[in-house]
Amino acid sequence: MNDSVHIHAAPWVVPVDQPPIAGGGVALHHNRIVAVNTVAHLVAAYPDAVLVEHPDAVLTPPLVNAHIHLELSHLEQLGKGDPPDQFTGWILALLALRDALGATGDEVADAARKIVEQQYAEGVSVIADIGNTSVGQELMPHFAGNLLAFKEYLGFSNHRLGDNLARLGAESPDILCAAHAIYSTHKQLLQQLKRRANQNRAVLPIHVAETMAEIQMINQGSGEMVDFLVKRGFWEKDFLNEVNACSGGTITYLSQIGLLDERTLCVHAVHASDEEVTMLAKSGAKVCLCPGSNRFLKVGKAPVKRYLEAGILPALGTDSLASNPEVSIWREMQLLHLDYPELNDAEIFAMATKGGAEALAISDQGTLTAGMKADVLAVALPENMVDAADVLRYLVSAGSRVKPARIQHTWSL
Ligand SMILES: [Zn+2]
Repeated sequence: MNDSVHIHAAPWVVPVDQPPIAGGGVALHHNRIVAVNTVAHLVAAYPDAVLVEHPDAVLTPPLVNAHIHLELSHLEQLGKGDPPDQFTGWILALLALRDALGATGDEVADAARKIVEQQYAEGVSVIADIGNTSVGQELMPHFAGNLLAFKEYLGFSNHRLGDNLARLGAESPDILCAAHAIYSTHKQLLQQLKRRANQNRAVLPIHVAETMAEIQMINQGSGEMVDFLVKRGFWEKDFLNEVNACSGGTITYLSQIGLLDERTLCVHAVHASDEEVTMLAKSGAKVCLCPGSNRFLKVGKAPVKRYLEAGILPALGTDSLASNPEVSIWREMQLLHLDYPELNDAEIFAMATKGGAEALAISDQGTLTAGMKADVLAVALPENMVDAADVLRYLVSAGSRVKPARIQHTWSL
């Protein structure tokens, strides 16, 4: 068993919870980070340490993909094709393709496994997967990082409510559960999911305010989403009485029914008024942005700057290959960089790391800080990186061509 401290040294270290360090290093002992500083400081503090040089690299925390649906990976032709005109058109196309290709089986599992391996190779160490099948659960032993496999609950109609509540009540407490969305999930089922998550001290992810159709359903009880539910026989007129008093959008509704607290993860959160951004911040609820999916489905752009101004550091998620031509957190950062020139590069990189860890309540990942897991990326840098601004710009703009090396210390031999 190797008991020495190892100092990994590189021209740049981006710890995320402090400014980039030129000539920096990360000291690892057993499976933890023990110090992050300039190499000179670390060598003085640990004179017997083993020094490992990473010339031409920047050391960073691993990435977090806070929202994906691995079980939809075999439906990639959807995300690589032309987006449908309407959001509900995309849902119908997804259901039809899934009927045609199947929702389980070897092809589904193989496609999902390929994505999990790709995520790890790209430097993702934490994945939050949402699924209706056991595909995500079955992949957990195959992911070298931390795969959180959430089982998704939905069911809008009154007559299925009893069954759904009973099914949820019978779940083992170690199974993580997610709610689908307000337009697909009965209010009482949402509330029970929240109570259960809080009892288990677990995060509850839910798709929130992804499209204007969802907002129109709440505000006016009409529009594309209502038509879709009516056509499929799921619409409940009760819903209108429920939301009559709700003058705002999805976030207002979620607040009114007691769904928002620090362990709620609002995925997408594209359509939020200023009041709702404040509401989210006050509740401590987390936000996960999916810029690639939002772009593909043309649902709009989330008010990212307003989230940051309100003190919310969003997480980033790729969503699935059914609504995104690529599932790469490096590309999600690149899209934010392109679509939001008002954001600074350090904020974008923090979303892909610290924001994701906070959103998923992972306390030992997300930054390079003493006490965190010994899990570090060494990202090769091109030449001509003059200062910290150049390094951060490269990290958030290079996209999926970044292929980081991994530094991990487990001392399990
Ligand atoms: Zn999703």
